[in-house]
Parts: sequence; C-alpha cells; structure tokens
Amino acid sequence: MKTHDLLNKTRSGESLSRDELLVLLDLPPDSSDTYMVMAEANRISKEVSDGNAEVHAQFAVNLAPCSCDCLFCSFAEVNGVFTASTVLSPGQAVAYARQFETDGANALFLMSTAHYPFERFLETAKEVRKNLKPETTLIANVGDQSLRSAIKLKDAGFTGVYHALRLREGIDTSLDVGKRKRSILNFREAGLEVGTCVEPVGPEHTNAELADMIAFTASFNPAFSGAARRIPIPGTRLAARGIISELRMAQIVAVTRLGMPRSVSGNCTHEPCTLGAIAGANLFWAEVGANPRDVQAKTEEGRGESVTSCRTIFQESNWAVPDGPSRFYNRFP
Ligand code: SF4
Repeated sequence: MKTHDLLNKTRSGESLSRDELLVLLDLPPDSSDTYMVMAEANRISKEVSDGNAEVHAQFAVNLAPCSCDCLFCSFAEVNGVFTASTVLSPGQAVAYARQFETDGANALFLMSTAHYPFERFLETAKEVRKNLKPETTLIANVGDQSLRSAIKLKDAGFTGVYHALRLREGIDTSLDVGKRKRSILNFREAGLEVGTCVEPVGPEHTNAELADMIAFTASFNPAFSGAARRIPIPGTRLAARGIISELRMAQIVAVTRLGMPRSVSGNCTHEPCTLGAIAGANLFWAEVGANPRDVQAKTEEGRGESVTSCRTIFQESNWAVPDGPSRFYNRFP
C-alpha cells in the first residue's frame, strides 16, 4: 500500500482501516509522505468543521492522591507528587466556570479524581449549571460510571463526557479495560456524547498499539477523537521512558483523523501547538487548577494554557475559532 493510494481513498470520503493506518504510522515523521498525510488531515478537519476550531476549558473540582495509580498521572498516589487533598467550594467552581465562559470557551469540563464522591460532584455541577448561560456546553470528566450514574450526569445538565481507554490500560494503570469500555456504552445509552483521545502516547507505544486504539475510538462514533502525548512527571518511572516529539504527535493526530468517520468533526491534541493544528487538530484545551499532567497545584502557573493562548495558536495556524457552544458535542440538536 502506498501513501498516495491511501490518500486517494480518504479524498473520496472513506476512512482508513486499522491496517491502512498502520502503514501511515510507520512513515518517518519528517518525510514528505507524512507531510502529505498531515495536509490531508487538515483538509478533512476543515471540511467537517467548516474551518472552525474549538477551545474547551477544564478545571478539577478536587485535588487528591488517587489510588488508581495511573503511572502517567501526577495525582497517582504511587508518584508521590501531591500528598494533601483540596476541594473547590461550589462558589469557587462557579467562579472558574464563569470566567471560562466569559473568556469564550466553547465547552466547560468539570473534572474530578476517580474516587471523589459522585453525589458531591453532582451537587457542585448543578450549582455551576445554574450559574451559566443555558446554551453553555457542560462536560464531565469523571471515573467509570454505571448507567444509573450516567443518567444522573445527564439530568444534572451535562451534554457529554470525556472518557478514554488509555494506552496500556490495566498495565500502566490499575483500571479494568472492560469497565472503561462499559462506561463509554453507559454514557452513550444515557444520551451523553463521548469525546475521547488516543493517549497518553509515549515513545514505547508501538504503531500496532496506536492503530488499534485509533480504530477503537472510531468504533463508537465519538464527538471527537485525537491524540495526545504523555507529559513526563519528573522523577517517576514513566518519565524515564521519555517523550515523543511534537512532530511525531502531529503525525499521530493526522493519522487519527484519517481513521475517523466524517460524522466525527472534532480532532483534539494536547498540549496545544501549531504543528498539531496544521496536522488537522481542531480542538485544544485550556486548563486551570489541578491538572494530572502538572506538578503545580494551579496549572495556570505551570503548564496550563488559557482560552486566549489556545485561540492564538489556532489563529497562527489558519483556523477560525468562533464563539458559542461546542458543535462537536452538539451534533444532534
Ligand atoms: S488518571 Fe484519573 S484515575 Fe488515574 S490516577 Fe489520575 S486521577 Fe486517578
């Protein structure tokens, strides 16, 4: 299979199979073929989103050492980064959310660590919802949930969730692959749109693993897919494995786009960068407060980008970022 033939296939509106994705992931990141793949992914992303990128904004309602021990996460107990727990008051959560709304985020994400009490999360969410414009898109980023809990999220005013089966789930994490997949089904059955991603990509992941994961994300027609590289948490076991380059990440973001059906209009990358945006990423995240990729308790003083800086990166990459609620999450009005 030649790159040229695969690009002809995508130009006719088809998405690529797992084995075809593998061919493109095998290309050297700095080859002219990879640049053609990136250009095609950019073209498709612009076609399916009318040239409009989005900035979503996330904050955590709590910061706590988490016994799920995902090795890439700064909250993981085993990594010993954070030892104390803090919780936002509903008033603080409302203030963060309203600031993001004012800044022009297209969707607001409320995150909690996996074991944060669900009912408490819902209480905070309802308070936030009450204080936002009715059209503002609210998204939950929480642990695995039953159908019953997923329905409660929907009833609390969430449009969707972020949920991912992470690379080497169950090996680099203590979570159960089956449960992660079931949660995605539960969210969908509850009427919540699911955004997802191929993450967190490190240098050790094989192209076969990446192709499998891209195909898995395509299988449930998410609000968006995409790819994000792993950010090393200094001093941890996974940090020793290193980090992939932005160019390699851009290649994976582009290949991910080519594996998605056209019904998926969002293609995310994290952390935000122009290389990702020109390779077809049309979704970035702004972050404040606790962040699982940061060792600062307030990521706005560390790695976190703002809504404004994300918009600037898109504009530098020739993307428009309109105001208003997320179109990726509101596909079926
Ligand atoms: S990624 Fe989520 S579940 Fe895993 S350790 Fe971090 S907070 Fe816990």
